[in-house]
Amino acid sequence: MDKYGILKKYFGYSEFREGQELLIDSILSGRDVLGIMPTGAGKSLCYQVPALLLPGITLIISPLISLMKDQVQALNQAGIHAAYINSSLSESQISKALRLAAAGQYKMIYAAPERLETYEFLQFALQAEISMLTVDEAHCISQWGQDFRPSYLKIVRFIRQLPVRPVLSAFTATATEKVKEDISCVLGLDRPQILVTGFDRKNLYFAVETPRKKDDYVLSYIKEHREESGIIYCATRKNVDTLYEKLISEGIAAAKYHAGLSADERKQNQEDFIYDKSPVMAATNAFGMGIDKSNVRYVIHYNMPQSIENYYQEAGRAGRDGERAECILLYSAQDVVVNRFLLENKEPGAEQTQEEMDAVREMDGQRLRAMTYYCMTSGCLREYILRYFGERGPDRCENCLNCAREYEQTDITETAAKIISGILEVRQRYGINVIAGMLAGENRAKLREYGVFDYESYGRLKDMREIEIKMIITQMLTQGLLAVTNDKYALLKVPPAAYEVLREERRVIYKKPKEDLSKTDGRTSSGSRVRKSDILNSKGLELFERLRALRTEIAREESIPPYLIFSDKVLVDMCVKAPLNKGEMMKVSGVGEYKYERYGGRFLKVLAEFNNGVREKFYFGDTGEPVSAFSGYGAGAPKVKKKDFMLTDTQAAAFPYQDQYLAAEIAEKLNELRDARTVKKTSGAEIFRRMQAAEYAGEEKKNGRWKRYISEKGKKAGLFIGMRMSRTGTEYEDIYYNKKAQSMIVEMFTEEHVQSNRKSF
Ligand code: ADP
Ligand code: MG
Ligand code: ZN
Repeated sequence: MDKYGILKKYFGYSEFREGQELLIDSILSGRDVLGIMPTGAGKSLCYQVPALLLPGITLIISPLISLMKDQVQALNQAGIHAAYINSSLSESQISKALRLAAAGQYKMIYAAPERLETYEFLQFALQAEISMLTVDEAHCISQWGQDFRPSYLKIVRFIRQLPVRPVLSAFTATATEKVKEDISCVLGLDRPQILVTGFDRKNLYFAVETPRKKDDYVLSYIKEHREESGIIYCATRKNVDTLYEKLISEGIAAAKYHAGLSADERKQNQEDFIYDKSPVMAATNAFGMGIDKSNVRYVIHYNMPQSIENYYQEAGRAGRDGERAECILLYSAQDVVVNRFLLENKEPGAEQTQEEMDAVREMDGQRLRAMTYYCMTSGCLREYILRYFGERGPDRCENCLNCAREYEQTDITETAAKIISGILEVRQRYGINVIAGMLAGENRAKLREYGVFDYESYGRLKDMREIEIKMIITQMLTQGLLAVTNDKYALLKVPPAAYEVLREERRVIYKKPKEDLSKTDGRTSSGSRVRKSDILNSKGLELFERLRALRTEIAREESIPPYLIFSDKVLVDMCVKAPLNKGEMMKVSGVGEYKYERYGGRFLKVLAEFNNGVREKFYFGDTGEPVSAFSGYGAGAPKVKKKDFMLTDTQAAAFPYQDQYLAAEIAEKLNELRDARTVKKTSGAEIFRRMQAAEYAGEEKKNGRWKRYISEKGKKAGLFIGMRMSRTGTEYEDIYYNKKAQSMIVEMFTEEHVQSNRKSF
């Protein structure tokens, strides 16, 4: 059987996702790989598929017991023999597992790094045929990662002791340059195939809301999403406790999780959540690492986290199944104050020098500021996050609150002038909190302490909410009408351009959300929200509930989490395709041979009963085409399955060459040439990834910001740096492609080339 057969038979999928094939092929050809892909992208498959094709055993190092258990259960569910060896097993269970492993019973064995150096394990490893060693969550090996685990360093010593060096594969969702380097160097990867896929998670909807009463917001949200599972992250244990009490008193089946609970309570509550007994989880950020629950439909942040890194990681626990999910951040100005306090009182690392401590503080401050700006931007939220991670997304994603919201342009020159005067009046010595508080006429202890009541500017904008003033300040920052010092104090400064505003030589335009800010207490309705209710009609939803009930029943019988049987996404696809026999059932995405044998009959029975043997249509849209649920952004219109982007020779010949193009422009021209009915679009990001793969260009961090650069090779190929102007009028550098480079790219995407490339693997 080849990799496609394995994919269908065991996992029930008919196509690989972006990047998976490249890594699988590299492993199979004996080359080390490093896969950097966002949460939910499907990293596990990248080593599980080759593990089944390689002659010997694959050893997978994983940091957490819960992760191992989840993965092994999922594999067993798919009919694959796998085992884990960790401290949750007794001595005799371990001996037995190792005996079976030595006898070739398992293709995959999961272990924690601590296990590697135990005598018994080593004895096993020295005799077994180990084809591959996989390091999952590989960022744990780096001191620069957020979850450094010293025991990960044992992996290296372990590999050295093996008689034959296995192929190494490492996977993580952390993409910073330092971590990437550490993984490669510390693990000693040999000229690895590195793959970095885009960080965009198209199925996640992003929103920042500023409700007056967060509790009311959360309650009404949960009530609107009764049947769905979600996580509410709070900043402190106390927040968690209070919110939890409230949810319970409202009759909501919730669980809670934080470091103040006993280990037993934590374990129990986590399981209740995973098994959908308590679909809602109120938790601090202690919760989540190692939770692979695929049907989390929303993640609400009750408080603003300390960095975009944290936010994206936590929010990213929503929608791992690829189905539509929502990430909502509830922002209030108080969050910034709390976070700043927490950062300033952070325990210094054990042997940190004053200098290192200052550097860390400064980084923390910058991260917090970027997070705060996220909460106040009126631009596309997804674009903001992607840009933070050094990727360029589309200007508008049409799948976030800001893209859905309507804005009106208002002339706020007068307000802007008052803000600028206020900053000048206090001699540019304060940050955004003090300035906004002062102008709004707030009466906080901190403001009293600074004596801002005595300034003329105090209360000068008292008709406005403080948060609105902050939003205006944030927009003025992006327009270059204000500046901020690059230290932990982040003092607001007045650049020359601002004086033009004071002299009334320049108007200031503000993009204001159409609904009044003061009215955003409840939920703001947003544009495109794709849920199963947008895909399935009412009859379809009824069917979905039936199938779900069956899934719960089976989950009880077998004591496994429901999503390990079939994810929600699979059930939706089942409703859409409404299969009546085995052949049709096997076409449902996520139904493999083994699962069919185990569960297919029972699901078919329910379907047949519901259908009365006659197939009806259970979804909206009348294309009659096969539907793949939840693809891409926005509306849930059924879509035909399409091939990856590719041009025929004739199409390629029509490319409109020009002296220079940006990658996004090339993508646009290429897309116009393709056969839109059968071929997917390409993107500027995809082109850049190919340039990276060919080592023509790359990304590096400079002064804390990601910058793209061109290699010598890239310059020869016709890539060059040019200036661009952003929408807000600031100039920045970007990569352009001359005619020579354009024709190289066109060639990369033409059919013949793509195919000959395939063959060479
Ligand atoms: P990661 O480890 O990258 O966070 P996982 O390996 O846990 O992600 O995969 C996330 C989800 O994506 C799983 O439910 C998995 O079954 C699904 N998945 C992986 N590869 C494919 C594929 N080729 N087609 C459809 N679904 C896939
Ligand atoms: Mg994973
Ligand atoms: Zn957007």
